[in-house]
Amino acid sequence: MPRDRFGREIDYLRISLTDHCNLRCVYCMPLTEVSYAPPATTLTPDEIERIVVAAGSVGFRKIRLTGGEPTLRPDLVDIVKRVARAPGIEDVAMTTNGILLSRMAVTLKRAGLTRVNIHVDSLNEERLSRVMRWGKLSDIQRGIDAAVDAGFSPIKLNCVVTKGFNEEDVVDMARLTRERDWHVRFIELMPLGGGECAKISLDRYVSNVDTKRRIEDELGPLEAIPPIHPADESKNYRFAEGRGVVGFISPVSEPYCGSCNRMRLTSDGRFHLCLLKDDELDVQAAIRRGADTAELGRILLRAVGEKPTGHDLASGRSTLDRSMHHLGG
Ligand code: SAM
Ligand code: SF4
Repeated sequence: MPRDRFGREIDYLRISLTDHCNLRCVYCMPLTEVSYAPPATTLTPDEIERIVVAAGSVGFRKIRLTGGEPTLRPDLVDIVKRVARAPGIEDVAMTTNGILLSRMAVTLKRAGLTRVNIHVDSLNEERLSRVMRWGKLSDIQRGIDAAVDAGFSPIKLNCVVTKGFNEEDVVDMARLTRERDWHVRFIELMPLGGGECAKISLDRYVSNVDTKRRIEDELGPLEAIPPIHPADESKNYRFAEGRGVVGFISPVSEPYCGSCNRMRLTSDGRFHLCLLKDDELDVQAAIRRGADTAELGRILLRAVGEKPTGHDLASGRSTLDRSMHHLGG
């Protein structure tokens, strides 16, 4: 398994399939002046497959497809098939806002997708539309139902907690885990890209310490679940009688850089070394001049070797070149 210079085992590649999205969540994409990579730079299914085969050959085991919104790619099913058949790859997951999922969940499952995380910030129609601008709760709910019916398990729901938008809705979201075996995970806001969304993410940040307290005040104590994988970024709990899991992802109040196991690939073919820094290594140029699997694997290992120790949010520094919709979380 690849190790970086700090001894961390890096075996998880998150691939942003596009920087476009059908929503405009207030903390992720502005309504105007969105920066997109030029269309000709978008990695093709064949290029993605070649990078994933190289990743499998050097010891990567887990892939996540993200975006932007990955379901906007018309060739998504083909991409999933190619990624799922790559030697060494054991797990192919996807993060989506769920809006388009109902029409493709079964096909994606058959193509080899193993898990889905669905982003839903509120169970209140009006508040959801305010925070996930253009999003309709009923569409996301149809996507969740389709994922359940297609047999994806466990269903994981991602909720980004945003002051003034949905910080009270965390109680209803956490309550879901009493009846269902779902994982509901609360994510702290991170400021990326230096623009309007970074400002919103700073101004409207809610610590998971407060979110957990709010949930326990209303619904009773949460019991800690010992971590199964050391690199799991989510600290997990359950209610005494609960069927599901309540998770807290706290990159700001409790950074987990020491156990980071991720490498990221942007839709325009750059290995992005740390979510919250701008360091990147171009792999696309190599592919487009005909690099073979061994060379692609060497570039990936170089990217692993250059991974920074951790982020600098505490000193007020984050990305300037890339925003969350380029990187995929
Ligand atoms: N569109 C898909 C979605 O929303 O799940 C995939 C891409 S989105 C960038 C991936 C995840 O990033 C989302 O699930 C959301 O939870 C998270 N996210 C977006 N902006 C964020 C921010 N400023 N801080 C923390 N998490 C954020
Ligand atoms: Fe789109 Fe996901 Fe960003 Fe929301 S968080 S704007 S759904 S990419």
